[in-house]
Amino acid sequence: MTSRVRLCAKCKQPIDPDRIECLPATRLCAPCAAEVENKYGGEFRTVVRETKTGRKGGLKMTGVDYEVETERNPKVPLRFEEEDEHESDE
Ligand SMILES: [Zn+2]
Repeated sequence: MTSRVRLCAKCKQPIDPDRIECLPATRLCAPCAAEVENKYGGEFRTVVRETKTGRKGGLKMTGVDYEVETERNPKVPLRFEEEDEHESDE
C-alpha cells in the first residue's frame, strides 16, 4: 500500500495522516502546531478582505462584500518546502 507521508516542517517527523486529511495545507505535526499556536498565533492566519463588488441592479446595494482567506502566518520562522512530501511504500 502506498500512502503519502508528509514530514513536519519543524521536527521532521511524519505528520499523522488523519491530520493531513482534516487540514490538507498543514506542514506541521499536531504537537508542533500547538507550539506554533502558542508562540505565533497559529500556522495559518485568517484574513478578511473587504471587496467592493456590489452587484449592479441588485436590490441590496450595499456594495460591500467580504472575502475570507486563510494564509500562512508570516511570523512563523519556518520554511515550508514542497519536497518535504514523499511517497513511501507501507
Ligand atoms: Zn513537528
